[in-house]
Amino acid sequence: MNVTIIGCGYVGLVTGACLADIGNDVCCYDVDANRIATLEQGGMPIHEPGLREIVARNRGAGRLTFTTQVRAAIEHGDIVFIAVGTPSGEDGSADLQYVLAAAQEIGRYMARFTVVVDKSTVPVGTAERVRATIAEQLALRGSDALFSVVSNPEFLKEGAAIDDFTRPERIVLGCDDDALGERARELMKRLYAPFNRNHERTLHMDVRSAEFTKYAANAMLATRISFMNELANLAERVGADIDAVRRGIGSDSRIGYHFLYAGCGYGGSCFPKDVHALMRTAHENEQELRILQAVSAVNAAQKQVLARKIVARFGDDLNGRSFGVWGLAFKPETDDMREAPSRVLIATLLEHGARVAAYDPVALEEAKRAFAADLDSKPEALSRLTLVDDQMEAAKGADALVVLTEWKAFKSPDFAGLARVLKHPIVFDGRNLYEPLALAEAGIEYHSIGRPGAS
Ligand code: NAD
Repeated sequence: MNVTIIGCGYVGLVTGACLADIGNDVCCYDVDANRIATLEQGGMPIHEPGLREIVARNRGAGRLTFTTQVRAAIEHGDIVFIAVGTPSGEDGSADLQYVLAAAQEIGRYMARFTVVVDKSTVPVGTAERVRATIAEQLALRGSDALFSVVSNPEFLKEGAAIDDFTRPERIVLGCDDDALGERARELMKRLYAPFNRNHERTLHMDVRSAEFTKYAANAMLATRISFMNELANLAERVGADIDAVRRGIGSDSRIGYHFLYAGCGYGGSCFPKDVHALMRTAHENEQELRILQAVSAVNAAQKQVLARKIVARFGDDLNGRSFGVWGLAFKPETDDMREAPSRVLIATLLEHGARVAAYDPVALEEAKRAFAADLDSKPEALSRLTLVDDQMEAAKGADALVVLTEWKAFKSPDFAGLARVLKHPIVFDGRNLYEPLALAEAGIEYHSIGRPGAS
């Protein structure tokens, strides 16, 4: 099938590459000319395991092309995916300007029956706005080309995106209940058939429910994290071990083990913005989502939990102190720095006068950009942050090491070696990666989240 992808970010690129890999002819379009140039030259603008190989293979086979030519891109696709960003607007609602700009381009150039797929995470009712935008453009040029807008939200996880896309737990498909909607559903079923071979994973529903499902999923996941973080803070006060509690409740099949880890707060491009956008949708419909208000507030506080522990240990004035940081990306196997807890923690340490040396296996370039933007008005603070490309180098001479992302390479370090390079053998662990006993044996003072021995 001929497929067009609008937006070559984490979702668009993965979608395009995986659909090309099963034999479709995919054209990927982006307004970012640098991004397209990088892709055309065989480069990769994002870090996603396995993606580079799939893109190279399908470019080589001529099934995957990249362009900044919007007209050619739209004319190419029988199915056109909108996979552009939907960042938080000032009031917390999803900013739909990129989605609607894409819709406008589709209306401007589509020439035959087209299935328009909302792949971006968009609030309930967006498909109707996309439809109206396209219809307006078609009317302007007197075109009677037919189309149908489908909601097909994406559930991939950065860092495991290829696997999630090609072996999805479910494919949510929201189509209109009319003849065009039926035609669109059939085309989408054909497109996804190769992923449904072993068992049918597609959940068919109406468009609004599909749009809502994506927010409900992310809101539930964020809730589990904030729930565990709040209990972890209580566990510290009452002398319980949140990790033992996690195992204790996870064994209940109604609860399950997944997504129950206490830590230094959730980040990333999705949970924070989607929780806010859902709250905003509720507000606009005269309902307050009190649980999500708490989820969001608990998370904001949790991003400061390690800073609080550090200040409790070293005092409010961190002038002359230095800290090593392992992990900058919001989670392992990605270079994504959006809403990463590291941004909050490092900014707070710098604010208190500390020096920081930080290391991440793949996010250093993104981190450089993120901190330059965050600390734009504080050049002196920024000058006290060094990004280093060696794990042990970050810890060398530091008053303490702070672990913020659960990269594999951080899981089993040489504790004795670590104790030697640190000025003070102290570790603050925002991901509960280590066995307290192993660190005690290496003579390291250990602070983690919600576990005994934590400060
Ligand atoms: P991203 O920021 O990585 O990529 C968006 C891309 O769209 C950029 O390359 C940008 O240049 C391009 N773009 C913007 N406006 C455009 C336009 N008018 N025409 C063409 N290209 C345009 O975003 P992402 O992380 O891939 O997320 C995309 C959507 O998918 C969001 O709604 C997000 O919430 C959702 N989503 C993301 C993830 C994730 O893990 N990143 C998972 C599921 C869903």
